[in-house]
Amino acid sequence: MSTPGRGLPDPGCPLCAGDGGTLLVRGGAWRVVLADDPDYPAFTRVIWSAHVAEMSDLGRAERDELVRVVLAVEEVQRALLAPDKVNLASLGNLVPHLHWHVIPRWRDDRHFPEPVWGRAAAGREAATEARRASVAALLPAYVDAIARRLG
Ligand SMILES: [Zn+2]
Repeated sequence: MSTPGRGLPDPGCPLCAGDGGTLLVRGGAWRVVLADDPDYPAFTRVIWSAHVAEMSDLGRAERDELVRVVLAVEEVQRALLAPDKVNLASLGNLVPHLHWHVIPRWRDDRHFPEPVWGRAAAGREAATEARRASVAALLPAYVDAIARRLG
């Protein structure tokens, strides 16, 4: 059940050495950060603090806590940003930290309907920039709402 090295910070790991983005709020076992993605200003990550690779490595209460935080971020995004879709993704192929990407998406964003890691849509530069700017304008309210909801 336990992962080797679980709970021990690894200085060679980017998510131990740093927050992995702009810190919005830190809980006992997790943190919420902005991913600082230039195309997606509200791209948010929920990062489990300890080295745990899989959701099923967590205990029942830990699973519930992580899902609670991820869904709180999703709800704030829906309430404040009104995205066309929220993408939830847990990949973690590069670092042994459970983390969820919570990404508000719009039909006119840079990659829609591809994942944000996919191929950019052609001929959408102006719409992409307008969307990026409108989301960036809402970012202070979003950051404040995340802190109030989870802080
Ligand atoms: Zn780490």
